[in-house]
Amino acid sequence: MDKWDIRFIRMAREVASWSKDPSTQVGSIAVKNKKIIATGYNGFPKNIKDRSKDLYDRERKLKLTVHGEMNMIYNAVEHGVKLEGSTVYIWGLPTCEDCWKGLVQTGVSRVVMPNIEFEGGKWKDGCNHAKKFMEISDINITEYLMSWPGLDYEENYISRGK
Ligand SMILES: [Zn+2]
Repeated sequence: MDKWDIRFIRMAREVASWSKDPSTQVGSIAVKNKKIIATGYNGFPKNIKDRSKDLYDRERKLKLTVHGEMNMIYNAVEHGVKLEGSTVYIWGLPTCEDCWKGLVQTGVSRVVMPNIEFEGGKWKDGCNHAKKFMEISDINITEYLMSWPGLDYEENYISRGK
């Protein structure tokens, strides 16, 4: 990780904060040549009003939600942006199996995502599979801890010149 990685992880954190989901905020940004070319955060599809009833009904919310990574891909498509060769920074959760497919199909070459402890269950398995799949699909992974203090005080953690 270098200084630019940290800057873009912070940007992904900012984008995650735009999600209206009361329990999980995931932000995703694609970067090429140190420029942000697409962003996305988890939320309901366009024209589906995020009424509080749906946001707090977990089953219904999971069915309606578009993941941050997929929203980033859809936003790129909408604006004619190619993600090929880009690095994707994710804040909130590691990539799941479904989003991994989207990242592979759009030619993303590197993913910087959090390494977090899960309580278990289906979600954890999906993320673990996605991580293995990235390795076999030639996507480079860099993992970081969302609690890492260097994310807020980069000068103390990154040596000069990087
Ligand atoms: Zn996903």
